[in-house]
Amino acid sequence: MSVIAVGSFLPPPPPYRRIKPRFTTMVSLRSDAVSVAETSSILRKLKEECATPLPVLRQVADAMSADMRAGLAAAHGLPMIPSFVEDLPTGNEKGLFYALDLGGTYFRVLRVQLGGNNERVVATDFDQVSIPPQLMSATCEELFDFIALGLAKLAAKDDGRFNLSPGKKGEIGFTFSFPVRQTSIDSGILVKWTKGFAVSGAAGRDVVACLNEAMERQGLDMRVSALVNDAVATLAGAEYWDNDVAVAIILGTGTNACYVEQIDAIPKLQGHVSSSGKMIISTEWGAFSKRLPSTEFDRAMDAASINPGEQIFEKTISGMYLGEIVRLVLLEMAATGELFGKSIPENLYTPFILGTPDLCAMQQDKSGDLQGVGSLLYDKARVESTFSARKTVLEVCDTIVKRGGSLAGAGIVAILQKMEEDSKGVIFGKRTVVAIDGGLYENYPQYRTYMQDSVKELIGSEKSNNLVIEHSKDGSGIGAALLAATNSMYKHDF
Ligand code: ADP
Ligand code: MG
Repeated sequence: MSVIAVGSFLPPPPPYRRIKPRFTTMVSLRSDAVSVAETSSILRKLKEECATPLPVLRQVADAMSADMRAGLAAAHGLPMIPSFVEDLPTGNEKGLFYALDLGGTYFRVLRVQLGGNNERVVATDFDQVSIPPQLMSATCEELFDFIALGLAKLAAKDDGRFNLSPGKKGEIGFTFSFPVRQTSIDSGILVKWTKGFAVSGAAGRDVVACLNEAMERQGLDMRVSALVNDAVATLAGAEYWDNDVAVAIILGTGTNACYVEQIDAIPKLQGHVSSSGKMIISTEWGAFSKRLPSTEFDRAMDAASINPGEQIFEKTISGMYLGEIVRLVLLEMAATGELFGKSIPENLYTPFILGTPDLCAMQQDKSGDLQGVGSLLYDKARVESTFSARKTVLEVCDTIVKRGGSLAGAGIVAILQKMEEDSKGVIFGKRTVVAIDGGLYENYPQYRTYMQDSVKELIGSEKSNNLVIEHSKDGSGIGAALLAATNSMYKHDF
């Protein structure tokens, strides 16, 4: 994970490099007691600045609701991108469909055989590969050739469970989890890259056209019937099994959220004719930036990123960044508080040397002497640590993870309260399901708990009895294939 992220950042000297020379001469003159006090004071300040008491969570939720409304009306506030998904799968869908999912870390290809109402999902099969780091800054052709090749490989695998009716083209749901401006369900212009991607020649282009050209180069005769992002696909996949799903959230490398909106509540789509009267809106909440608790470490990380000033909510709550924020805090503690002894472990200077999965692994260490924390710090960063230093490291992890999880919860409440304000009872008056997917949510129990606690604190225990937050595992893969089916050119045959 760290390898990929390193490639996404500019070379040194980032601002936090300054930390080292500032303190090296002073360090040896100080007593141990002074160093310990320095570390405690950094920790205390960090906790204060990252705190998310109820009033802060409420301000974040309210500011995000307001930004959602602004974004639905015009070109300010959150992007609130119309997905053009107006019909969700019914269960009648039949046939063979493919899904491609380009996330921030993995690329997945999936095929699914749908059997209609009684049989539903008859068979699935998928391949997953880590996205090679060099592809993240390759050319548009190279990236899409990689995608088309993955599709070609899966399609060529012989397996009797998957059958395309004679004369029909394979249809694809393409999950492309970057901001895309859509004007129809099967096309969309890439607005910008996020999550460390910097592929040349793609921004401003229709990503479906890019994929079509690559498929042609591979000799594949297939059609993209639905272009969606992972949040939209997750919503579709979860709704297929449970009609009460109203919101879907992704918490993985990056983050996003979407929900089902009434067409007449989307002023910027005025005049759009819709048979269902509804459309899934992709909030692009990663771009949110108001009232967020922030520290000098967040600012240093942002300044060194390939998209400074952008995606601030994403940089505060999602998997790509939590480990890096912790690294910057530990580096400061090592430099000014001698957290790891008289010298600063050289490896702590390497951006992304600590990944969010490392924080998670350390927080699961229940041993009395924190042996697991010690060996992970050594394996990952060649850091020798005392018991007291390990405890401090865990407190830093917990502070950053608590802030991330709690703010994710505030974001969920922002969406729910906006929907409830528009139509009283639609959310809190009945059972409502929020479907969540992504490696961060799936694998980090403390993050999940902080998120759920924050939702409950904000909406109160009575309303939260009606609210179900559920993990929709890999719902986005099936969801994209289902949306390909819902928008199939053969759907009159179902
Ligand atoms: P993508 O974002 O590519 O769609 P995922 O949803 O699987 O992929 O998310 C991968 C991200 O999830 C990783 O980059 C990492 O930040 C986070 N993650 C994966 N495993 C863990 C873990 N054990 N603990 C915490 N975070 C994890
Ligand atoms: Mg994903």
